[in-house]
Amino acid sequence: MKKYLIPLSVAALLSAVQPLMAQQPHAGCGTPHPKQVLQFAATENLSANPYVVQIFVHILRNDDGTNAAMDDATLRTNLDRMAAFYRPHNICFTFVGRDFIDNTEWNTNYVTADIGDLHAVNPHSDAIDIYVHANGFEGSGGNAYDIPSSKCSVAATASFNFEHEVGHCLGLLHTFETFMGAECPDGSGCGSDGDFVCDTPADFAGSQNMSSGCTYTGSQTINCNGSDQAYNPPTNNIMSYWAGCYAQFSAGQGTRMRNTIDATGFLQDRLTPDDRIITNTTLTGEIAVGAQNSIQIGNIAAAGDVAMNGNAHGMFNAGQFIQLVPGTGITPTGANSVLLTINRMCDGLFLTSEFPTADRNRINQDGITALQVSPNPFISNLQVQISLVNPGPATLMLFDLTGKLVQETSIQVNANDHTEQLELPHLDPGIYFLRLRHASGSASARLVKL
Ligand SMILES: [Zn+2]
Repeated sequence: MKKYLIPLSVAALLSAVQPLMAQQPHAGCGTPHPKQVLQFAATENLSANPYVVQIFVHILRNDDGTNAAMDDATLRTNLDRMAAFYRPHNICFTFVGRDFIDNTEWNTNYVTADIGDLHAVNPHSDAIDIYVHANGFEGSGGNAYDIPSSKCSVAATASFNFEHEVGHCLGLLHTFETFMGAECPDGSGCGSDGDFVCDTPADFAGSQNMSSGCTYTGSQTINCNGSDQAYNPPTNNIMSYWAGCYAQFSAGQGTRMRNTIDATGFLQDRLTPDDRIITNTTLTGEIAVGAQNSIQIGNIAAAGDVAMNGNAHGMFNAGQFIQLVPGTGITPTGANSVLLTINRMCDGLFLTSEFPTADRNRINQDGITALQVSPNPFISNLQVQISLVNPGPATLMLFDLTGKLVQETSIQVNANDHTEQLELPHLDPGIYFLRLRHASGSASARLVKL
């Protein structure tokens, strides 16, 4: 469900200010000052649900398809690390996909003025577009183009910049930002100056150059409130320039990002929706879909309306359940597959280890053709009807609404059509999800215990 938060105030930037140039070649960021700064009251009514942001990654290559800026394994490492930094702040990611853009100039000698042409290649209205270039550009290792933003570039040579640039996309300013006024080391002005976040200590441009490892060794002061105050910059903060020392966003930064999403229509458009119904479609190529609650593949009112054939490579991840209704056809061939995962929205970055060559929870032409339960709702005993193309050992796993595994039962399916009795008088009343796992794939059914 979308909600639109009106920011407390919008401070417009009155004069053009040049972006701060990188102090460290591997860590610099060319993100300009925001065109306007969103300011929020300290007590916003934020959603308790995770803010699940969809991202799409574009890997630049040279004209001839060589010199990919980043391989998939390194991309995964970067995205996993990024997701880990955001997860404590109730912000998660759905990885919608990855493509290649072959342009030597943009890969190795990019100028940020080309972002319009670059962004026109394969833009996403439902995901933040992240471009990965082989080399740094214009003295920096990354650029989010505005704050907030629906797109950003990172240089593969500045691999810590995924979390930093996406932070800009979600409304964060540099900790050393001063363009609206300097924040004082004693904290005064923290809500209206500096980075507009009060639990990030005041910082100044270049503080990372006065260092011993990740310890600040400088003695820089600023005159605030009539006295010289010494800086104690946040050397582990992702929005600082202490790139090798990044360890966290502050709680205030997490709140600011969630407030920014609430207040920004184009970021709302990039959130994973609560529920999805996929219907009336023949799916080919690659598709990755997430939903915070449920995904229904096929339409009960018009069974038989979804087919995933041939080179389909589909990935579906829901917070609670995925329902394959009768008539859904899933017959990918060769190395292609369909993956169904449940309750992983904030557990890990969606699909990090599965894209694009997957072998987990695979459903293929040897797969499960039916999983039916009756009665449903049930009181104590449940009949599970299973149809497999290739019989063999399988596992029935029962999960509660929170995704906790309640019961696991190993079964032997000896015929194509098999019925299993489950006696579940001990279960508390409520909603459960039954997953059948078999060598050829998995399927799920939603149960109601009375
Ligand atoms: Zn930056």
